Amino acid sequence: MRPFRYHRPTDVAEAVALLDREPDAAYLAGGTNLVDLMKLGVQRPGLLVDVTRLPLDTVEALPDGGVRIGATVRNSDLAAHPVIRREYPVLARALLAAASGQLRNMATTGGNLLQRTRCPYFQDVSKACNKREPGTGCAALHGQNRDLAVLGWSEHCVATHPSDMAVALAALDAVVEVHDRNGPRQIPLAELHRIPGDRPEQETTLPRGALITAVRVPASPLARRSTYHKARDRASFAFAAGSVAAALDLAGDVVRDVRIAYGAVAHRPWRAYRAEETLRGRTFSPDLAAQAADVELDAARPLRHNAFKVPLIRNLTVRALAELAGQP
Ligand code: SF4
Repeated sequence: MRPFRYHRPTDVAEAVALLDREPDAAYLAGGTNLVDLMKLGVQRPGLLVDVTRLPLDTVEALPDGGVRIGATVRNSDLAAHPVIRREYPVLARALLAAASGQLRNMATTGGNLLQRTRCPYFQDVSKACNKREPGTGCAALHGQNRDLAVLGWSEHCVATHPSDMAVALAALDAVVEVHDRNGPRQIPLAELHRIPGDRPEQETTLPRGALITAVRVPASPLARRSTYHKARDRASFAFAAGSVAAALDLAGDVVRDVRIAYGAVAHRPWRAYRAEETLRGRTFSPDLAAQAADVELDAARPLRHNAFKVPLIRNLTVRALAELAGQP
């Protein structure tokens, strides 16, 4: 373990100023990812700025019917919150499908969004990895890539984003509240994470030192009829082999509106806009859901070991939407 300094700021402005001033500082929240990466030598911060005591740990109902989730709300508390369970079942289910109970008790909302890829080559400092060390290559591209991307990847990086929660929030049109040196601002969650392009080390659109302070989820007639389906190698806890967040609003059997997002297929949560467009205004059936998934997945480029993800996501899409339509 390398030595590092530790500081606990008293407010958001102090935390942001510290990150701004110290180039090798990092925010510490639940530590469920960062501490592991420090042990592996993947991340080597010289200063940890512990944000867990900042007053960011509440879930508030908003006047417009939405909800504001503080960045340090623990994943287990969020999954159990009565408003989340009742109004946003896709979010509660995604959280409960993620990690173990012990990890959910520690992991925070902001940290969950910013967790790093679980690409095994990223976590092994003896392997080439453009994300860890830009310009060194991507050992995964022609290595073991079963768990990696089928959509939106580049020859520079084929990693996937590991969060389940972020996939649900992408389907719910959530907005992220951020503080940086210029003050507060909001970023649509769909614009928070990047596809890798030729800069895989740059995972989000956040400027250096920005702190996520909350996530806003708008009220929506869709959200109450929403669900999350995740396929994984073991039922107890594991990262997704593929996942689908879906929300559906029907008028009779006709799709009035729909939201679909895919997980474990790309460098970011993958909002399935083309699938949604295929479904809107048409009479729902499982066959139509499969057709919509095919339209979205037409852009998929499987790697050597992960072609199974395409039919997997197709089947999960059909299963999730058919459940919501009452046509399982
Ligand atoms: Fe690194 Fe991305 Fe390649 Fe994995 S896929 S080795 S994270 S560059």
